Amino acid sequence: MRIVSLVGNRPQFVKAAPLCIALRAQGDEVLVHSGQHYDPELADLFFDELGIPSPDHALEVGPGTPVHQIATIMERFEGVLRDEEPDAVLVYGDTTTTLAGALTAAKCGVPLAHVEAGLRSFDRSMPEEQNRVVTDHLSDVLLCPTRQAVENLAAEGLTRGVHLVGDVMFDASRMFAPLAEQRNAAAAHGLQPGDYLLVTIHRAAATDTPEALDAMVEVLSSLDAPAIFPVHPRTRGKLQAAGRWDALAQVPGLVLAAPAGYLDFTSLLMGARAVVTDSGGVQKEAYFHGIPCITLRDTTEWVETVEGGFNTLTGMHAGAVRAALANVAMPAERPPYYGDGHAADAVARAVVAELG
Ligand code: UDP
Repeated sequence: MRIVSLVGNRPQFVKAAPLCIALRAQGDEVLVHSGQHYDPELADLFFDELGIPSPDHALEVGPGTPVHQIATIMERFEGVLRDEEPDAVLVYGDTTTTLAGALTAAKCGVPLAHVEAGLRSFDRSMPEEQNRVVTDHLSDVLLCPTRQAVENLAAEGLTRGVHLVGDVMFDASRMFAPLAEQRNAAAAHGLQPGDYLLVTIHRAAATDTPEALDAMVEVLSSLDAPAIFPVHPRTRGKLQAAGRWDALAQVPGLVLAAPAGYLDFTSLLMGARAVVTDSGGVQKEAYFHGIPCITLRDTTEWVETVEGGFNTLTGMHAGAVRAALANVAMPAERPPYYGDGHAADAVARAVVAELG
């Protein structure tokens, strides 16, 4: 069976690491990189560190609005599908690359499988929510990481081709934790394990208006602890363009760093007192490693982490963040919300069973 997988963003590279191994054990995988993330620190570093095979096709979409990127990826991906004649296309997650891949597969009549199907924040203003909903409704095989995701799909009438497989990010976390443990990324920044907060912020809602950037600066100025913020290039660009970067750089105790590779980031996460983030993947990774999470959003797709007391939603509000930090605790038991660490094998088996 010939499967074309499309990746293009940092979280998709993390998911591809276990999936490339599993897919190649079951069939023939052709890996395509859309080029949506093109900075070396968001892309090349991940292929090298995580041992992801070199892409067979690079679409090199580069920067631009989502509309431009979707249109360009679609046009170039259509050519790949014409040449490769796959039995299935596999897309991951909820990005511009995901949506462009799903639309192209549908228009070319190639069966579509979606990894991380069924997640919902129920906030249609989020670009990611739009991407997920459309991709799920175009998919022939829906590979759900959680029980909640299966229920979300059923509520939208999607029950055929649905598989509960677990979370491939949990697989990645288990694969690479031993390597990350050998690093002491905190020390390189003068931080003591157990003493600092780890911050990541990159979503459009947090970065796309001057008001949102002011709220971010206020939150980060009010953290009462050493903190490290590996700044996403998009966030850095927005802060600099809006003249807010210098204010952030002057916050006492806040280290502004370059985006970290996966192993250094995991090392930073394992040593953090808590993580403060608007990332989807990082909320789960905090849970995997038993680190309390404060999520700077009003909604999440990873509702089980909130319901279980592992994650607190604060929005981008300094008072709520401080209150949550004052009360962080880790429940002793961590239920297996995300499977058994073999989700990638389950994905490959389900795709072959449904479409092979
Ligand atoms: N990550 C990383 N370095 C960083 C920040 C995040 O390697 O400096 C990893 C993190 O461990 C997770 C993934 O990037 O696996 C999450 O990506 P991101 O937050 O960009 O996307 P989201 O999960 O929100 O879609």
